[in-house]
Amino acid sequence: MLTGLTRFGKRPASRSALVFGLSAVLLLTILPGSSPASAAGTSANAPRTETGTPAPAKPEAGPSAPLYPERPHWIPQMDVLIDVGHGGIDGGATHGDILEKDINLAMAKQLYAVLQERDLLVSINRIGDYALSDDNLFHKFRSRHKRDLAQRSGIANRLQPKLMVSLHVNSVRSSSASGPLVLHQKSDESKRLAGLIQQQMNRYYGTEETPEFGRKYYILNQSKCPTVIVEMGYLSNAGDRQRLLAPAEQRKLAESIADGIQLFLREAYSDDQAG
Ligand SMILES: [Zn+2]
Repeated sequence: MLTGLTRFGKRPASRSALVFGLSAVLLLTILPGSSPASAAGTSANAPRTETGTPAPAKPEAGPSAPLYPERPHWIPQMDVLIDVGHGGIDGGATHGDILEKDINLAMAKQLYAVLQERDLLVSINRIGDYALSDDNLFHKFRSRHKRDLAQRSGIANRLQPKLMVSLHVNSVRSSSASGPLVLHQKSDESKRLAGLIQQQMNRYYGTEETPEFGRKYYILNQSKCPTVIVEMGYLSNAGDRQRLLAPAEQRKLAESIADGIQLFLREAYSDDQAG
């Protein structure tokens, strides 16, 4: 969608979340010192320090080590990027006429609202029913699915948020499987984020699930910021389905995800506005 920079919510511009489709690409493409190639990570495979000199092969990660040396210091860093799973031609999991993409979007809007109420800077990568592959400027994959996924990690790597949560819903043949599951990257930050979100969602669901390493997932492999995939429940389970479709339950579920996010930000960025 070739839309302009879209805002929604009631906050003044400086604290508003921005909604990024193609606009994220355009915004960051025109920033001085943020060339498309370097921001996308295609020209700078070696880690670099803030001054642009090559860093040691394995730089120390953590709050004191800048995750994103390319981001100009005068751009406020987004706290959270919400990746809304699927969209448009890609419905995701289904149960009758219930589509995962719609639940992901409804939950994303709930999470967006909760995080914004908590004074976090939050972005969301789709607010309607469309496929992100249509916007892709990063990679010319023949596969629409791959263009879609590349766009999601591409936006994250341009926007450089403190973290990204990718919202999804599970579905399996058995109707008895239920509950939330958070998938993480290899990094300790991602594991920590997954653990905290899982813990808070378990409290909401009354479950004792543990996060898993999402080795095969493109977005986890390509995104540079701490990223997790949040499987918010099972569309194939009647109880989970009820929760996922009822706005009041969606709100509670979003609050549990937000609780985990906030705990992570407080730990990792204890000396700024992480709340
Ligand atoms: Zn999904």
